[in-house]
Amino acid sequence: MGKDEGIPVRVALRCRPLVQKEINEGCKTCLAFVPREPQVIVGNEKSFTYDFVFDPLAEQEEVYNTAVSPLIQGLFKGYNATVLAYGQTGSGKTFSMGGAYTHDQENEPTVGVIPRVVKALFQEIEQRADWEFLLKVSYLEIYNEEILDLLYASRDKACPISIREDPKEGIKICGLTERDVKTALDTISCLEQGNSSRTVASTAMNSQSSRSHAIFTISIEQKKRADKNNSFRSKLHLVDLAGSERQKKTKAEGDRLKEGISINRGLLCLGNVISALGDDSKKGGFVPYRDSKLTRLLQDSLGGNSHTLMIACVSPADSNMEETVNTLRYADRAR
Ligand code: ADP
Ligand code: MG
Repeated sequence: MGKDEGIPVRVALRCRPLVQKEINEGCKTCLAFVPREPQVIVGNEKSFTYDFVFDPLAEQEEVYNTAVSPLIQGLFKGYNATVLAYGQTGSGKTFSMGGAYTHDQENEPTVGVIPRVVKALFQEIEQRADWEFLLKVSYLEIYNEEILDLLYASRDKACPISIREDPKEGIKICGLTERDVKTALDTISCLEQGNSSRTVASTAMNSQSSRSHAIFTISIEQKKRADKNNSFRSKLHLVDLAGSERQKKTKAEGDRLKEGISINRGLLCLGNVISALGDDSKKGGFVPYRDSKLTRLLQDSLGGNSHTLMIACVSPADSNMEETVNTLRYADRAR
């Protein structure tokens, strides 16, 4: 990745357009964008700068080409990679990741990151006829600090899942279904299957709101055909994080409140890990990966020998300004 080498985490800010509901409610835009600068201004005062800023007019293709595709090249050199979508419920995480993809969307400009990555991966593989590839896919959800297998045939009988560290494979999740995939279509079928079993609970903010982190992982093993000793592994995690909104806004009660608290723990730990990685003064210092399931699971794919992109998603509406500022700050800490 040339000049990217050594930059552990890059941050892309993405602002979606106002949605119809916000327009109907008379919401105004509270964010301004600086032409040709990766900068955003909130309420005409404070400005934030990121590695990339995508304004409401930016298309999925532009987001993919500029921010995501460099990570794909790294996978073929043995780097692990992680793409994370962060933001409050309704800010565009699932839209950006393409986590709700269905096959009838094929070739549509609205297709998000995951289907584009899958297509690009298999195109690259086709170009490398002198290498043999073994690809595996898993799809899981972290809900209340518990790991749920989204590809398991029957959820009730799912065996307990635990996180281990393997000297050869890095972080390994024992008991998790791994599907061999040979084509882009195989891979997309896994995505679709997992999506249909995602846990969703309604909140006052968005009936489709997801209170869990969803992690779609593609593991790649590459062997040179002429020299079986020349082989290596890499993996790519594509993460649709739980909504980052604070509890009071969702009027959560009982069970819901408990969910909210542990979800925040994952996001809090992720923030701490990413900020420790970016802090030069702490180079080689302690990174608190073990404080949550999310960061533990991503341990070998955040920092170190890996490339990370955080897509921080925001709404432009003035009614969401408080949460938008929280997201801008969280993303700012990550740089
Ligand atoms: P989240 O996953 O963060 O809760 P969604 O991805 O479901 O949010 O987005 C909320 C709504 O906004 C959806 O109707 C989605 O289609 C729309 N949306 C999000 N981002 C964009 C965008 N960049 N362009 C157009 N519509 C978008
Ligand atoms: Mg979503």
